Amino acid sequence: MESQVQEIKQKLDIVEIIGKFLPLKKRGRHYLTNCPFHGEKTPSFTISPELQIFKCFGCGKAGDVFTFIQEYEHVDFKDALEDLAKVAGIVLKKDPHLTQVEKLHRRLIDLNQEAAKFYHYILTAHPLGKPALDYLLNRHITLDTIKTFRLGYSPSNPELVSNYLQKKGFTKAEMLASGTYGTSRYGNSMYDRFLGRVIFPQSDFRDRILGFSGRILPSDKSQNQAKYINSPETDIYHKSQMLYGINLAREEIKRQKSTIIVEGEFDMISPYQEGIKNIVAIKGTAFTTEQLQLLHRYTDTLILALDEDLAGTNASLKSIEVADTMGFDIHVIDLQNKFKDPDEAIMADPQFFKTQLATPVPIWDFIINSALKSHDSSTPKGKQDILRQVLPFLAKISNLVTRSDYLSKLASQLGSSPEAVIAESQKYKNNSSKLIEDQSLKIEDLPAKIPKMDILEEHLLSLIFSAKKPYLLATKITEHFAFITQRYQKVFSYLLKPRKNFVAAKFASRLPPELSSVFQDIFLHSTQFEFDSHSRLSEINKTINQIKSITYKDQLTTLSTKIAQAENQGEEEIVKKLEQDYNHILSELSQVQSTKR
Ligand SMILES: [Zn+2]
Repeated sequence: MESQVQEIKQKLDIVEIIGKFLPLKKRGRHYLTNCPFHGEKTPSFTISPELQIFKCFGCGKAGDVFTFIQEYEHVDFKDALEDLAKVAGIVLKKDPHLTQVEKLHRRLIDLNQEAAKFYHYILTAHPLGKPALDYLLNRHITLDTIKTFRLGYSPSNPELVSNYLQKKGFTKAEMLASGTYGTSRYGNSMYDRFLGRVIFPQSDFRDRILGFSGRILPSDKSQNQAKYINSPETDIYHKSQMLYGINLAREEIKRQKSTIIVEGEFDMISPYQEGIKNIVAIKGTAFTTEQLQLLHRYTDTLILALDEDLAGTNASLKSIEVADTMGFDIHVIDLQNKFKDPDEAIMADPQFFKTQLATPVPIWDFIINSALKSHDSSTPKGKQDILRQVLPFLAKISNLVTRSDYLSKLASQLGSSPEAVIAESQKYKNNSSKLIEDQSLKIEDLPAKIPKMDILEEHLLSLIFSAKKPYLLATKITEHFAFITQRYQKVFSYLLKPRKNFVAAKFASRLPPELSSVFQDIFLHSTQFEFDSHSRLSEINKTINQIKSITYKDQLTTLSTKIAQAENQGEEEIVKKLEQDYNHILSELSQVQSTKR
C-alpha cells in the first residue's frame, strides 16, 4: 500500500489537483489562493510545487495532496486514495485492511448500483415500465433528465429484481441488509419494498447510491399506501444525512455560492431540468444539523423554497435557528401563494420562478410578512398572535444588530414601542444566547503571543530561502550574524553545508524529521516576497539589525541590573568592568540603529 501511495504521489502534481478545485495565482516559485478552509479575502493558502505540499498561513491547515483531498472533500484516507489513484491512472491492489464493516458498506453500495441499473432499464426499455415512463413524460420530465437522475421503476413482479441481483452474485443476507428487500412471511421468496413505484436513487455527494425513494403511480388502485416511501435506516442510508441531488448540484452550489432548498424529488428535478442547478431537496420542511454541515462545505447562503407554512412548525423553527447560528445567510423564495410548490411553479411559469429566485426575501422579513398576512394587526388579539408566531424566530437571531433591527421593524409594523417588543422577545430567548456568549469567549482566548525574536528570525530565514542562491547567501551572512532561536539555527546550519545547486525537495530530504515542518513553513513563507536581489539584501540587513538591536537591548538591561547590584555592594572594580561592557554594547547598538534605514 505504502509503495502505491508513493507511486500516486509521484504521478500527480499537487498544483494541478488543487487547481481543479480552486483558482490559483503564481507568485514566485509558489501558488497562492484564498483558503477554502477558513474565510479570507487576501490569499494565505500557499502551494509549493517543489515540495508538493500546501499550507495556509491563516488557519494553519497544511499537508500533501492526500491531506488536501481528505480535508476538502471530507473523505477518509482510503477514499482519497481511491479518488487520486483514479486520477493517476493507477489500479489499486485490493486493500486487505478493510474492516468487516467497510466491506459490507462497499457491497451494499455495489448492490444498490446494480439495482438502480435494473430499475432504470425497466423504466426506459421494458414494456413493464411503460405506465411509469408515461407518467414521468406527462409530468414533463424528459428522457435526458430521467437518465441524469437514473430514475427507475420497480416492476410489479416481486421476484424480478431479486433474481437479477442473485445472478449478479449478491446474497439474500446482503439484499436484506440493503433495506430494499424483505422476505415474505411464508417461504423464502424476496419481495421488493418499492414494488410498483417510480424509483429515485438517493446518492451521497460522492455519487454513491445509499438508498432509494419510491413514488406510487397515480393509476395505482391500492388504497391507503403512502405516496412516497424511503429506504429504512441501514448501515449506509441515514435519512437525516441525505440531500437529494447533492451529487449533481454541488459544483454549481460552489460556483453560485448559494443553494436552493426544496422539499421533494420533483421540486428538485424540475428546476434542475430548467437550468437551475444549485438545488437540493430535504424531504420535509425541516433540515437537520448534518445536512447543514454538509452544505456548509460548499456555501453559506441558503435559499428556501419550502412549504408556505414554513413558520408553522417547531421542527422548521429549530432548523432555522441552527442554520442561523452556523452563520448561514437564509433567504426565502416567495411563491406568493400562486403555486403550491417549485415543481408546479416551474411547470406553469418558469419565468415567474426565476424572477422570484433572483429576488429572494430575507428569512426574517418573510416570517414577519407571513404573520402579518395571516393575522389582523389592528386588534390586540391579532398583535398577540403575530408576536407569538414571529418572536420565537426573531429572539434567536444570532447577530445582535440584525436581531435588534428586526425587532424594531416588527414594532413599527405593529405600531408598538421597540422597548415593549424587545422586552416581550426576552421570553423566547432560552439557551441560544448562551451559545453566542460561549463563542465570544473562545475568540478572546485565541491568539497566543509569539516572541518577537522568533518572528524576525523566521522572516530572515524565509528571505534567505527566497533567494536564487541560498547557500551562497548563507555563507556571507554567517560571517557577521548568528541565529539565536534553536530550530532556526539548526535549519540554517544545513545551508552552511552547501551543495552545487539549491533544490528545495533535496534540501528537505537532508533535514532530520523534527525540522522538516519548520523548513516547510519557512520555505512557504518565502512566497510573500517579490524582491530583486538588491532589495532582498537590504531587507535582510534591516532584519539582522532589528534582531541585533533586540539582543543588545536585552544585554543592556541585564548589565544595568548587574551594575546597580555591584554598586550597592561597593565593588568598584567590577562596576568599572561592567560599565566598559555597557559602553561597548551601547556603541554597537547605536551603530546598528544608525544603519537601520
Ligand atoms: Zn486557512
